[in-house]
Amino acid sequence: MTEEKKIARRKIQATVRMNELMSDYFYDLNEAAKSSNRKVAWCTSVGPAELLRALGFAVHFPENHAAMLGATRTSTDLIPEANAIGYSPDICSYLTADIGAYLKGFTPLAKAYPGIESVPRPDVLVYNTNQCRDVQDWFAWYSKELDVPIIGVTSPKNVNEVTGAHIDDVARQIEALIPTLEEISGNKLDMERLKEVVSLSRDCTELWKKVLETATVSPAPLTFFDATIHMGPAVVLRGTREAVEYYKLLLAELEQRIAEGVGAVDGESVRIYWEGMPVWGRLRQHSELFSGFHATVIASTYCSSWIFPAFDGDDPIRSMAKAYLELFIVRSDDYKGGYIMEMLKKFNIDGIIYHDAKTCPYNSNNRYGLPQRIEAETGIPSLVISGDLNDLRCISDEQTKTNIEAFIEQLEEGK
Ligand code: SF4
Repeated sequence: MTEEKKIARRKIQATVRMNELMSDYFYDLNEAAKSSNRKVAWCTSVGPAELLRALGFAVHFPENHAAMLGATRTSTDLIPEANAIGYSPDICSYLTADIGAYLKGFTPLAKAYPGIESVPRPDVLVYNTNQCRDVQDWFAWYSKELDVPIIGVTSPKNVNEVTGAHIDDVARQIEALIPTLEEISGNKLDMERLKEVVSLSRDCTELWKKVLETATVSPAPLTFFDATIHMGPAVVLRGTREAVEYYKLLLAELEQRIAEGVGAVDGESVRIYWEGMPVWGRLRQHSELFSGFHATVIASTYCSSWIFPAFDGDDPIRSMAKAYLELFIVRSDDYKGGYIMEMLKKFNIDGIIYHDAKTCPYNSNNRYGLPQRIEAETGIPSLVISGDLNDLRCISDEQTKTNIEAFIEQLEEGK
């Protein structure tokens, strides 16, 4: 029987700076929403944030807000509010938690950042359906509710190879957004500024990749659970100098850990890959559960999805289109299988956990035989856990614990 011990993850010192950065970001958004000179755009996580930033918008990401609702474990009580107005409990629990929070007049920002009373009111809602249709439905609801324009990009799905035709299509859609955004922002798009923002996004992405790849070393200096928190600036501040500076700081700390042979968790014995969304309301419990068995979840598709190698300041719009299309979630199962197998090799993985998130089929890659195909090809065992990103009613903690414990035992025996 594998013995469970209480082992905590080592604290990352750079967290203090990250918290300052996130605080500055939310207060700035709050100011922008109150000011008559600045405009606020809401944007989906891999929507055209670079374009919005270059046009001077303050950019709010509702998915980030929804993840905060999950992490603060307030989402489960808010979801029924959205269910009551017709949004099924089976659809995206980011959407239902966020709309539920709006209907209840609640935001975790108010507690975290005194003086902020609500999420910033948008002047425009900008989506990209590269990840799912739910984001468009989500923004469409706010558009009606707040009488705010909604525009966006309709992306191809299940793409195997990203071709020139795909890029042309999305680049043209991005260009078509510009006149409306110029009118709403009151600013003409400055191409030089867009190039600068895209270059900063590229720098951010390269540093974030280096941060995640520190976990190729054993013992890994950071875990998936650290990465879900420290990806904050890459999500909400990509295209800014502050994000770039932050990842330099974080990378230096992790490189120092490597030089000293210090792991994020003491006594790393098995190395696990996480495929799918995090369970936001269980980050700490899951982290402790794995580290208690000396298992380290060291890499994930989710955190790696904020690596966009295509960004190129010399060709801003086409490179944005390419970056948004090359995203894992947009791709075919063949591509996904190849990608995951490369990650298993790169990070020297012993086992894979697939999180089957009840309300997000798009990020649950266990439903069409992919785990079986990967296991047959690599011999690396996997476990599917049922759960959800935000709706804690879909989770059985006891069952998760029992299954994970048995899985780690299996991995240890196989080593
Ligand atoms: S990808 Fe999943 S979690 Fe993200 S917005 Fe779409 S349905 Fe929700």
